[in-house]
Amino acid sequence: MFQKILIFLSLFLISASPVSAANNTTTITTANSVSTSPVTTAKITIINKATGGDISKNSLLMNYIKKTVLAKQIISKAKYGTPLIKFGNGKGPIVLIVAGVHGNELPAPAAAMKLINYLNGKSIKGTVYVVPFVIPYNTAHKLRYWHGKNPNEIANIYGSPTNVIVNLAAKLHVNALGDFHSTQPGGVPGKKSVFSTLVPTPKSYSIAWYISKKTGSNLIMYKKAGTEYPGALEDVSNLRGIPAVTCEVISTHGTLNLSKVNNSFNQMIAFLKYFKIL
Ligand SMILES: [Zn+2]
Repeated sequence: MFQKILIFLSLFLISASPVSAANNTTTITTANSVSTSPVTTAKITIINKATGGDISKNSLLMNYIKKTVLAKQIISKAKYGTPLIKFGNGKGPIVLIVAGVHGNELPAPAAAMKLINYLNGKSIKGTVYVVPFVIPYNTAHKLRYWHGKNPNEIANIYGSPTNVIVNLAAKLHVNALGDFHSTQPGGVPGKKSVFSTLVPTPKSYSIAWYISKKTGSNLIMYKKAGTEYPGALEDVSNLRGIPAVTCEVISTHGTLNLSKVNNSFNQMIAFLKYFKIL
């Protein structure tokens, strides 16, 4: 019976995705009812003091970061922990973009820094929080594991770097969380894709459907959060009632080129456009 309900729900969402987007109009209307945010100065805070590292040691990543005043400030502050950058004035939709859960995946942190430079000084309809490096130390040294654990398997463990992110998302009352990664050719999933779950947050699927359509990413949907990937940032977020998606671009670990950066950046832009923030 439960399965039948899921299938029905799934079919409904597939056939009614435009309707889902229309449902989102509630948020959109709210956003449109306020005037476009005045240009705001980005605000940087450190949200986890256990993770600091010198990003400038990752010379490959640095090659793809435009050295604006803001970018230099973020890289400097990341020595002391996980930086959080805020754009907007708190009105309209609130979203959180996360990169660098895996320090050996370089496209998403580069794309997040590109997004930060893109948003700086821009008028937006809503609030965008960006964490470009969840674990600056790992991104600095292209490391995947944190104290012997995969950071994307311990978001349900109190105090872990990804758990700090979920708690932050709850505290900030974000409408959604986008977690951006890269996958190796031949790996899992090994293709440009967007992961989502239907239960308990069908909006996760609705967001993923939109990003998939806009960026040509494969749409991957799991029926229930926490089943296939317990402890994943996306799953733990969905289980907490915060709609979340995981976006993947193809890139060999520890490598980077401009097209990978742009693929990840375009997924981030699509995530923001779903909420009509841009
Ligand atoms: Zn990853």
